[in-house]
Amino acid sequence: MSGNASRLSAINAINNGSKKETEMPDSLSSIWASDVFNLATMEEALSKNAFKAMKKTVQTGSPLDPATADVVAAAMKDWAMSKGAKFFSHIFYPMTNATAEKHDGFIVTNADGNAITEFTGSLLIKGEPDGSSFPNGSLRMTNAARGYTAWDPTSPAYIMNTANGATLMIPSVFMSWTGEALDKKIPLLRSNAAMDKAAKKVLTLMGETEIATLNSSCGAEQEYFLVDENFANSRPDLLLAGRTLFGAAPAKGQEFDDHYFGAIPQRVQVFMQDFEDKLFKLGIPAKTHHNEVAPGQFEIAPYFEAANVAADHQQLLMTVMKNTAKEHGFLALLHEKPFAGVNGSGKHVNWSVGNSTQGNLLDPGSTPEENLEFLLFCGAVIRGVHLFGPLLRAVIASASNDHRLGANEAPPAILSVYLGDQLEKVFKDIQEGNLQPTECGGVMDLGLSQILTFTRDPGDRNRTSPFAFTGNRFEFRAVGSSQSVSGPLVAMNTMLADSLNWIATKLEDALSSGADKTSAVISVLKDLMDEHGNVIFGGDGYSEEWHKMAVEERGLKNIPTTADALPALQEESVIALFESTGVLTPVELASRYEVYSEQYILSIEVEAKLVIDMATTSIYPAAAAYLAELTSTIATASGVGVTLDNTVAQKVASAADAMMADVDKLSAALTKHDFPTVDEHMQFCAGEIRSLMDSIRESADLLETLVADKDWPFPKYSEMLFIK
Ligand code: ADP
Ligand code: MG
Repeated sequence: MSGNASRLSAINAINNGSKKETEMPDSLSSIWASDVFNLATMEEALSKNAFKAMKKTVQTGSPLDPATADVVAAAMKDWAMSKGAKFFSHIFYPMTNATAEKHDGFIVTNADGNAITEFTGSLLIKGEPDGSSFPNGSLRMTNAARGYTAWDPTSPAYIMNTANGATLMIPSVFMSWTGEALDKKIPLLRSNAAMDKAAKKVLTLMGETEIATLNSSCGAEQEYFLVDENFANSRPDLLLAGRTLFGAAPAKGQEFDDHYFGAIPQRVQVFMQDFEDKLFKLGIPAKTHHNEVAPGQFEIAPYFEAANVAADHQQLLMTVMKNTAKEHGFLALLHEKPFAGVNGSGKHVNWSVGNSTQGNLLDPGSTPEENLEFLLFCGAVIRGVHLFGPLLRAVIASASNDHRLGANEAPPAILSVYLGDQLEKVFKDIQEGNLQPTECGGVMDLGLSQILTFTRDPGDRNRTSPFAFTGNRFEFRAVGSSQSVSGPLVAMNTMLADSLNWIATKLEDALSSGADKTSAVISVLKDLMDEHGNVIFGGDGYSEEWHKMAVEERGLKNIPTTADALPALQEESVIALFESTGVLTPVELASRYEVYSEQYILSIEVEAKLVIDMATTSIYPAAAAYLAELTSTIATASGVGVTLDNTVAQKVASAADAMMADVDKLSAALTKHDFPTVDEHMQFCAGEIRSLMDSIRESADLLETLVADKDWPFPKYSEMLFIK
C-alpha cells in the first residue's frame, strides 16, 4: 500500500482488529463495593468497640485513638491480604489534577531471615513519601523536603487491581514537615468544617436544637472522548497534550446532532459495561451513561456522595477510565477540548449541603420553617457567587479549560447564578418588599404559600449558565473535564461558610431587636438581595447582550483566560476569605497561586514545542512532497505541450511557507524568559504564544485540505471521530 503508512495502517487495524467480546456482566449485588474496606466490612472485621469508634470517626470526622488505629490496621491488612494484596500505598492528591502514591510491602523480614507481615496503626496513619518531586509552591525548602501523608479515615480504603497485582490503597492527606497543606484534600476537609460551623450558627438562630454534622455533597458528571488507540498512537499531540493541535474540520460534524443520546456503538458499550463493573467493585456508584453532543463523546455520572469521598472517587474514576479504555483499545481523552470546532468536555459539579437532622438545606421543604432555612442557604450561595465570582473562575482555570470557557458552547467566563423563574421571583419579591413579613404569619398566606408551592422543576433548565440551581442543588457547570473537583468544592464550601457567617450576624441583630423569625429572615434576605441580587441571571449566557450588560451594568467580571483568572488568588478579599475561615493560610494560598501559574505556563510551552515539532517534521515534509509531485506533473504536462493550472501548487507552497515563518517566530518567542513577574509571563503565553500556535495551525489545517489524502501524516478528524 502506498501513502502514509502509519495513518492508513491504523484504519486497517481498526477495521480488521478483533473486538473484545461482551461478557455477561456480574450481578450488582455480587460485586458492589467488594474491593472496599467500608463500614460494612469493618463491622464484620472489628470488635464492637473498635467498630463504634471507627464509625464515629467516619461520620463526624472526630480523631481516632492510637489503640483503635492498631486494631483497624491489623484488620485492614488481613482483609487486604485475603484479597491478594502484598502491598499497601497511601494515595494522595497533590496540587496537580492527578494522584500520587508510594507503594510499600506488608512484608518485613525478622532476625531469622523469615518473612512476616506487618502493618501497625502507625504505618496506617503516617507515610513518608519523598515529597520533593511534588509541586509545593516554595512551601518546602529542599533541605526539609520531607512531606507526610496521613490516613484520612473518612474516605474508605480499597484494593486496586492491576496487571502487577493487588495493592491496598489508603486515601491520605499530604502535608509539609511544618504542617502546611500540600494537597487538595486538606483544604477540602477544612472547608467542610468551616461550612459546618457557620451553618450550625444559622440553624441554631433558626431555633434548631438538634443539629448533626453538616457535610457537603458532590455528584460529578464526567464527559470524555474515546479515540481508537491506533489513531492516537500516530498523533503525538493526543498522546502528549491530550488534544489535537492540528486538524481540519470534518465534512460531517456534530451539526447533525444525531449523536446526543444516540445508540452507543457496540464496542463502546462493551467498554462501558466493563468500566462500570470495575467502578462498582470499588464502591463508586456509577449511575448514568450516555452519548454526548459530539461524535465520539460520552458521559458518566455517578450518584452523589459526601464531597470528600466523591472527590477521591472522581480521581479514581478517571484512573480506572483511562486504564479500562486501554484494555479495550481506546485512548480516553479527558481534555476539555480535544477537537477544535467540536463540543468540548466539562465536569458538572452538582453540590449541596445537608445533614441527617435537617436534611438537604438546598432542597425547598414542605413547612414554612424548612423553606426559610432553604432561602437562607440559597441566599448564602447567591452572595458567595457575587462576592467570589473571580475566585470561582480561578479555581476552574487551566490552559485546557480556556479552550472551552468563553467559547460559544460551554458556560461563559462570567460567573452568574441561574435560579429558575419561580425561585428568582421569590427572591425578587423579597427584595421589592412584595413578600411582606406580616403576610407570612402562622396561617398559610399568599406570601409564604408562594414559597410553599415552590416545586422542583428539573425541566426548567438553562444550559448556558455556569452556576445553576437545579431543584435541590447547585450545578457548577464551568468545571473542566480533566480537573479535580476539589478546588471547586473548596471554593464553594468556603464562600458558603463566609456567607452563612454574615447571615448569622445579621440574623442575630434582627432577632435581638425583637423581630420574629420570619421577619428577620426576610429582612436579612432583602439586604442580601440589595447588595448581591445583581449576580442572578436567567437569560442566554452566550449572548452578546449579556456579555455587555454583565460587565457594564451589573459590574460582573468577564475573565476569558487563566492568565486573567489566577491573580484572583492573590486578591485581599480572597486571602481574607480563606484565612478567616481557616481553610488556607496566606502562605498556603500563595503557594497554590505559584503552582497553578507554573502549571499554566508549562502546559502552554509544552504544546508550543509540540506544534513546532509536528509542523516541522511531519506537516512540512508532507506538503513539500506533494508540492514536488504537483510540480513534476506540471512539468510533465508542459513537456507534452499542455499548461496545467498551478493554483493548488501555489496554495500549498504559500501555506507551507507561512507556516514555517510562524514556526520561526514561535521558536524565538519560546526563548524569552526575562519576565519581571509570573503574571506577565502568563499573559505572554495567553497572548503571543497562543496566537502564534493558532496561526501555525491555520496554515497547517489549510494544507490538510490541499495535500493528497494518501500523503497526509496524521489521522483526520472524520476518522478519529467516526471510526469505532
Ligand atoms: P443532568 O445531566 O441532567 O445534569 P445527571 O442525572 O446526569 O443530570 O447528573 C446529576 C448529578 O447530580 C448526579 O451525579 C446526581 O447524583 C447528582 N445529584 C443529585 N442530587 C444531588 C444533591 N442533592 N447533591 C449533590 N448532587 C446531587
Ligand atoms: Mg448536568
